[in-house]
Amino acid sequence: MKVYAYGKQSISQDDIDAVLGVLKSDFLTQGPELRRFEDAICEYTGSKYCVAVSSATAALHLSMMALGVGQGDEVITTPNTFVASANCVRYVGGDVKFADIDPKTANISAEEIEKSITERTRAIIPVHFAGQSCDMEAIHRIAAEKGIFIVEDAAHAIGSDYKNTKVGSCKYSDITVFSFHPVKTIATGEGGALTTNDKDLYEKLLLFRGHGIVRSQEIAEKHGLWYYEMRDLGFNYRMTELQAALGVSQLKKLDQIKEKRRHIVSLYRDLLCDLRIGFLEERNYSNACFHLCPVLIDFEKLGINKIKFVRDLFKAGIHSQIHYIPVHLHPYYRNLGLAEGDYPEVERYYSKTISLPLYYDLSDDDIHCIVNKFREIM
Ligand SMILES: *Cc1c(COP(=O)(O)O)cnc(C)c1O
Repeated sequence: MKVYAYGKQSISQDDIDAVLGVLKSDFLTQGPELRRFEDAICEYTGSKYCVAVSSATAALHLSMMALGVGQGDEVITTPNTFVASANCVRYVGGDVKFADIDPKTANISAEEIEKSITERTRAIIPVHFAGQSCDMEAIHRIAAEKGIFIVEDAAHAIGSDYKNTKVGSCKYSDITVFSFHPVKTIATGEGGALTTNDKDLYEKLLLFRGHGIVRSQEIAEKHGLWYYEMRDLGFNYRMTELQAALGVSQLKKLDQIKEKRRHIVSLYRDLLCDLRIGFLEERNYSNACFHLCPVLIDFEKLGINKIKFVRDLFKAGIHSQIHYIPVHLHPYYRNLGLAEGDYPEVERYYSKTISLPLYYDLSDDDIHCIVNKFREIM
């Protein structure tokens, strides 16, 4: 029986050759591929600067550090996300404030953001859920008035467009973060990147990626060739050359991947249109490179046991997933004072959503097969 994950990498011979090339080269880390990948991301997104790192989680952490978020600061994000979007605020000692979603897109609602702002709000982390951009112009308008920073969590959204700009251009934000985990749109094994148009932020991100250490010709001439200085407390969040070379190769196929992902989502919509299933809306401003294909089922109303439904799909080879358990309902965040009922829209959304398999290597036959099994089980 064929097994379908909800997301999966697609690796071509070109990708394999790129990685093999690095293995035969002089550098496994801190070599030329890293810069090549960063330049390719700048070119693709239209941003001025890019810093590739070991994961999107590391990228989010660096973004908080570079913006100087710390104790006493509040950062607003969505509860409909992977825990990393919120955890980065905690890493630097800040407080997470959630803002509820717009149920039509499952993205953070600009109105809810506005209501959540206080004197302590330092930054907003909108997450482009399933690949569709948030309404960045609206969010930017709210933030700019009050001098609040914006970090786009675009872990789902490389390749997506917002109003004729690429997500990652940072036209409406200070920093954008991408993930290259294998379930995401393009893969480097583990990996992430940040884009920005701000030179100061770029230099801080570089500093914090590499232990806070500075090396320069000037310092070496003065103190000796071995000499370097640690000026701030940073981390080792570097991406290896193997990962960067794979990233360069994967990025070349991004537009092709986007087309296929959009095709699969529209095929699901057509084939499932007679069932009592909802889909998220795609806004006019969006041209998403879809990372997920969530469908909405009112399990309660239809009298379907969700736990059994997901298990039956699993037994039939469809390894669906639920995106997401609302972040405020995890024990860690409950212990910080959050509770069920705090964000009703996301909780309602969570009760209905289930993500169907979506990745580049799925054929039309695969989709038909998944849909047929889905029908039988429903
Ligand atoms: C996957 C994901 C992350 C974390 O990405 P890693 O590269 O695995 O660290 C962060 N935010 C969102 C929304 C994600 O989906």
